[in-house]
Amino acid sequence: MGRKKIVAGNWKMNTNLNEALALINDIQKGSKQFSQVEKIIFPPFPFLKNSVDSLTNETTFYVGAQNCSEHIKGAFTGEVSAEMLKSVGCIYVLVGHSERRTFFKESDEQLILKIQNALKNDLQVIFCFGEKLEERKAGRHFETVKKQIENVLKNFSETELNKFYLAYEPVWAIGTGETATPQQAQEMHAYIRKIMSELFSNTLSQNMPILYGGSCNAQNAKELFSCADVDGGLIGGASLKAADFCKIIASF
Ligand code: PEP
Repeated sequence: MGRKKIVAGNWKMNTNLNEALALINDIQKGSKQFSQVEKIIFPPFPFLKNSVDSLTNETTFYVGAQNCSEHIKGAFTGEVSAEMLKSVGCIYVLVGHSERRTFFKESDEQLILKIQNALKNDLQVIFCFGEKLEERKAGRHFETVKKQIENVLKNFSETELNKFYLAYEPVWAIGTGETATPQQAQEMHAYIRKIMSELFSNTLSQNMPILYGGSCNAQNAKELFSCADVDGGLIGGASLKAADFCKIIASF
């Protein structure tokens, strides 16, 4: 059996409660026939419980959180713990998104703690990474991605990694409208599999879903998803329009 097909929508700091529920409803209606594709949405924290509750009858449509704290609990005003996310029914959590790395200066050490907390609470981690424009221009994209993966994932066992998805998101493509070409995506995804195979095992590497993220949309998803090592997408902007998101889901 091949790897899972996955389309995940990162809503970032968008929507209010009514808009979030309407969006879920429209995505549900528009993606019903694509039960072979796993759908995941990442709404803002305040809407997680309502989102989970509106998807209780779904078997291939899940809710995840955009972030979790590196702390377990206590005096950390404004933070949200992995345990809290689990208690409202989240299945997934994003760790290492470039906006968290850039705007909130999240370090590899923090990412490791976040993942440890996520795993302790039985959340599945989608670990994000990708090179910046200057790193690609300097021809250091492979080296950068290798370091990002090694620095964090070497701290986890193969058994733990069985619960992960990876998301390759070149920073220069996120929210810019400039997508990686299918060749660039395929080349990097194949390289990521090679790294995972060297760090862990060929079996883990071959079974690991690797998503592409960065201006993936209803027009370019089909070509990107047809690449041998691309198992789906992590979608930002285009996940906020149900019709576009459903078209992406229909792109396999
Ligand atoms: C993202 O934020 O993960 C992302 C891929 O955003 P966009 O699709 O808007 O580039």
